[in-house]
Amino acid sequence: MRSIPSAHSQKKHLSFDALRSTLSHCLTTIPDSRVQGRCQHSLHDAMMSAFACMFFQDSSIAEFQRQVQEGKNNNNLHTLFDVQTIPKDTQLRDVVDNVSSEALRPVFKAYFHQLQRAKQLEPFQVLPNLYMCAIDGVYHHSSEQVHCEQCLTKKHRNGSVTYSHGVLQGAFMHPEQRQVIPVMPEPIANSETGYQKQDCEINAAKRFIAHLKRDHPRLGILITGDGLFSKAPMVNLVLEHNMHFVFVAKPDDHKYMMQWIANYDGLPELSVNDLRGRVHRYSYQNQVPLSAKEDAPLVNYIHYELTNEKGKVTYRNSWVTDIVIDKHNVARLAKAGRCRWKIENECFNTLKNQGYHLNHNFGHGKKNLSHNMYLLTLLAFFFHQIFELSDPDYQLCRKSYVNKMALWETFRTLIIYFIFDSWNDAFSKLLEGRANAKVHQKNK
Ligand SMILES: [Zn+2]
Repeated sequence: MRSIPSAHSQKKHLSFDALRSTLSHCLTTIPDSRVQGRCQHSLHDAMMSAFACMFFQDSSIAEFQRQVQEGKNNNNLHTLFDVQTIPKDTQLRDVVDNVSSEALRPVFKAYFHQLQRAKQLEPFQVLPNLYMCAIDGVYHHSSEQVHCEQCLTKKHRNGSVTYSHGVLQGAFMHPEQRQVIPVMPEPIANSETGYQKQDCEINAAKRFIAHLKRDHPRLGILITGDGLFSKAPMVNLVLEHNMHFVFVAKPDDHKYMMQWIANYDGLPELSVNDLRGRVHRYSYQNQVPLSAKEDAPLVNYIHYELTNEKGKVTYRNSWVTDIVIDKHNVARLAKAGRCRWKIENECFNTLKNQGYHLNHNFGHGKKNLSHNMYLLTLLAFFFHQIFELSDPDYQLCRKSYVNKMALWETFRTLIIYFIFDSWNDAFSKLLEGRANAKVHQKNK
């Protein structure tokens, strides 16, 4: 008889060592196109060193490398990240530039499955067996000088050109869960498409949907996104991949559908008063045509309005979905649709302003450096999200710092002065330091 795994053994898959070794395993299987014998440092060591820099939220790879190995026979990159030799930052960038970005896809998949095995995903169901993935575009590089062949280009009237790189990012989320679970993004970049026309958010989203289905073929997925996506081609594509959707539908973008809805003698309605004295008003209509075109998909429409205790409307939005709406699920669907902002707030905003240096230039390279640095930053964020979800020690520690940046700043200082045999050692030191600081404060 198989024994039921304990909570401890389930969480073991989500420990720093388990996550780090999954990443190491993936990195050692990436084909190395360099001439062997001439390479001083392995591909694993170059990629892992770059990752460690993102993990500790350092803004300079060169400075980070210098500090971890300064005057010591051993270093934390070796003991914690299994890096045998540390490449110089120029060598490191050269290696990372040449790694195919797709090689990192298995890591995102593996972490998702590790979370699933540890039963950490169950609270993320927005409806029974349905997980919501919000999608949105973000640009992580913009320059008038630095560019590569994959850069998107925007020509200005004065003759100058802005070069940029973006991604169509997806993340699983739930209205009641603070953490988000990122998935492998789709680059918004030129050479990936093979088309003459420039790549764009909507084309990247179409590729993203196909890849997400391939990565999670049996998972019930609800895609949510802004008004850009509530158009027939995207709706049809999501349905063809056996997924569901809830997309923002602005009345101005859907005049025909709004006229159609106006012809009903009133819509089914639901009104809920909450404990704060606010009123949530929902109205909906199933099976309405998305546009005037003969083959327009039939969608289900939700309108939501929030009125505060003074009777003032403070929020209003509308969505279209393929899920049949009734009075039992309308509030949950609207809440799911509203939760879309988390991809901007909890994901992009955190990556930009909470120490991850998303818009910082770690180097542009000739091939994949810019996108790979984004992926490594996202993986560092993913590690930290997993700790926040599943590690009680981390949760405790996180609470004692004003924000994440302050926590990682302390960590960066610690790894300069001490060499730790394991992540647990490093973490105990951090907790111990925190406890001592509190005692010191009390005795003052
Ligand atoms: Zn570029």
